[in-house]
Amino acid sequence: MQRVSISQLLRKPTWGSGPAGFYTTEKILKYHNGAKIDIVDRLPTPFGLVRSGVAPDHPETKIVTNQFSRVASNERCSFFGNVSLGRDISLSEIREIYDIVVLAYGAESDRILNVPGENLLGIHSAREFVWWYNGHPDCNNMSPDLENTDTAVILGQGNVALDVARILLRPTSELETTDIADHALEALYKSSIRKVCLVGRRGPVQAACTAKELREILGTKDLSIHIKECDLSSSSADEEELKNSRIQRRVYELFSKASASRHPHSISGQKELHFVFFRRPDRFLPSLYNSKVRGVSIEKTSLAEDVGSGKRYAVGTGQFEDLDAGLVLKSIGYKSVSVPGLTFDEQRGVVPNLKGRVLKNNSSHPILEDGLYVAGWLKRGPTGIIATNLYCAEETVGSILEDLEKGAVRPNRHGRPGLVQALEGRGIQYVTLSGWERIDLREKAEGNLRNRPRTKITDWAELLRVANG
Ligand code: NAP
Repeated sequence: MQRVSISQLLRKPTWGSGPAGFYTTEKILKYHNGAKIDIVDRLPTPFGLVRSGVAPDHPETKIVTNQFSRVASNERCSFFGNVSLGRDISLSEIREIYDIVVLAYGAESDRILNVPGENLLGIHSAREFVWWYNGHPDCNNMSPDLENTDTAVILGQGNVALDVARILLRPTSELETTDIADHALEALYKSSIRKVCLVGRRGPVQAACTAKELREILGTKDLSIHIKECDLSSSSADEEELKNSRIQRRVYELFSKASASRHPHSISGQKELHFVFFRRPDRFLPSLYNSKVRGVSIEKTSLAEDVGSGKRYAVGTGQFEDLDAGLVLKSIGYKSVSVPGLTFDEQRGVVPNLKGRVLKNNSSHPILEDGLYVAGWLKRGPTGIIATNLYCAEETVGSILEDLEKGAVRPNRHGRPGLVQALEGRGIQYVTLSGWERIDLREKAEGNLRNRPRTKITDWAELLRVANG
């Protein structure tokens, strides 16, 4: 009988047992009757991005956890939470224990801008901010300062940037009935932020967000939208791009409509959202009195075309201006991290792979790693919606089944008892599925008292205490 481990293990902060891991597990259980699968996660809680990444005011996106819970409770499946790859157990050890290891631990670090002043206080990655409002235990002490400034700058114009802007700008009372972390709700009530600038290095034609998410923020109650008309004038190259992409066309139309229908002046008391196009961060400006950020110097850009790919990228024009802000959120994309013993493409932030089969090297004559696979953002980079992971998982599972069929995988290793022995021998307090169910029950019960879907436990020690009954 084959034993298959789906490991969403992480070295340090993690996205854990997220959609890619669960979709992979579901497919293997479906197509391989003999497979036994252990889902391993650094966090005591499952669901990765769905719990820690999806915005609290998007409950419909979280419904997929019902499907994942059914997978987790399959008799051929086990959950091991609070187990960190590289800290509690190494990749080589795990590979000795299981016939097959699938790494699906996502992208839990951030791209960096590499501009001066990036370490000033008051500058955070959007990922950290998202983890903070979603109650990720690694960010419950983050305390972003929302009280000593009236302006926030968000760098990047993807869907994460829109999520973060929406949470800062929508009436806080509308978040009361969501599963947002208590500490975030409290901070948002006290927030003095009235104005958010979403800064993109390219134009409205190239904005990375999608129409549904853009429409949502444009329709936020009591929010005045600001888009400069001159930014909307499109060149013939823009027209060509719009002709070729329905998504870009819809986004551009929404920007145009919002610009045309806006009132010339904000109504007093309204919060403001400014879309700032064709600007890239040049450096962060320190306060004169302390090590806090007081603004961003941005450079005006224009677009040039890469001859090889045809992709249009931003180039600086040498004209600079300052945006004042006491809070800056960098939303320029997530990045996966590696673990010792794993080939990793630092530039792209992914594990080199062939349809999910991990490669030993990244050369033109790649050699496959025996029994090691990858799925999700770690495999293809940090893009796509939750369902994109379904197709990604299908491809990886296809490779696994093909390799099993060909006899390319050496079966009959210890599997689960081997992992339990290793963890117990090291005194690792792992969380089982029943442990997670105790957390789940407690969170839902507390939430129920306040008309909320759940009240998240955000503290590591408390999560482990509740999990262990
Ligand atoms: P993203 O879509 O890749 O957007 C990244 C943004 O950062 C782009 O505007 C990009 O501009 C900009 N950027 C990158 N490097 C930069 C630099 N050095 N300087 C200035 N700007 C820079 O990433 P994301 O917003 O983190 O989202 C990740 C994935 O999750 C996406 O596929 C997204 O659709 C998905 N997601 C979906 C939802 C939803 O469906 N509701 C919610 C959240 C996230 P350029 O375009 O010029 O590179």
